[in-house]
Amino acid sequence: MSILVVGSVAFDDVATATDSRERLLGGAATYSSCAAGRFAPTRLVAIVGDDFAEEHVELLRSQGVDLEGLERAEGKTFAWGCRYEEDMNVRTTLFTDLNVFAGFHPKLPQSYRDSELVFLANIHPDLQHEVLDQVDDPQLVVCDTMNLWIETARDSLERLLERIDVLVINDEEARMLTGERNQLRAAAQLLQRGPKWLIIKRGEYGAAMFGGKGLFIVPAYPLEEVPDPTGAGDTFAGGFVGSLAAAGRIDEAAMRRAVVHGSAMASFACESFGLDRLLSLTPEELAGRVKAFRDLSSFED
Ligand code: AMP
Repeated sequence: MSILVVGSVAFDDVATATDSRERLLGGAATYSSCAAGRFAPTRLVAIVGDDFAEEHVELLRSQGVDLEGLERAEGKTFAWGCRYEEDMNVRTTLFTDLNVFAGFHPKLPQSYRDSELVFLANIHPDLQHEVLDQVDDPQLVVCDTMNLWIETARDSLERLLERIDVLVINDEEARMLTGERNQLRAAAQLLQRGPKWLIIKRGEYGAAMFGGKGLFIVPAYPLEEVPDPTGAGDTFAGGFVGSLAAAGRIDEAAMRRAVVHGSAMASFACESFGLDRLLSLTPEELAGRVKAFRDLSSFED
């Protein structure tokens, strides 16, 4: 199945309690398309500026990402900076420079309109609507968002919920969207507003999928060192849609397996700054980690 990813391509400055990097290739669509591209051919719609070098283009291409939909504009690429506390669940955004993103309207090449799986990575919900207006008849639409849009574009986001199949958000965003602290109650509310499935990402505690035949919970793969968790959520979503595309079907078993594949990919994203660990990842390492997930919670009764 063909995958379409739309979202941000960025240069990220990331500081942790012990280390920092500047101008890492990042962005929600970068992480998610590279993760999805591991599993199946992936089309990218995004915008970059004239500071986006050929080596970055090549890097995306090397991950199985089709770049016909990558728009180049005069000006600088979107740039974002953050700092993590010792407790890496706590992240502060230091700056968000929209740059070429400011006037961006996604334009799907004709050849992308028949995309079967669509992942709307984190961008303004109005732009996510514009993407859905341009795809013919996708089999599954998966959508991410963030606190910024819940606060500033709630109406558009609420309307979007009626157009999507799977909402992928973190626990704090689920609370913000519903006002509910209890995740079961928050999930029940969200599933009434449109999506058939809801995946709540719970950082180092893993992910939970609601909808379908029942609750499905996967732990996060335990890591002794987490150099940089940036992009883990996007990598999760990319691995998730990639896994579904590779399976070629969307049923309960494929959805559950996709959550495990997404979680495995996300754990690798945490093992280095930026994309490095995802780039060095071998199919054997991925298979080994998927097996580790099975072992983590299998038991005899
Ligand atoms: P995550 O760690 O999964 O929340 O994703 C972090 C990525 O999202 C970084 O690579 C950023 O470049 C990107 N990002 C941060 N803020 C925004 C925003 N307002 N719009 C689009 N992408 C963003």
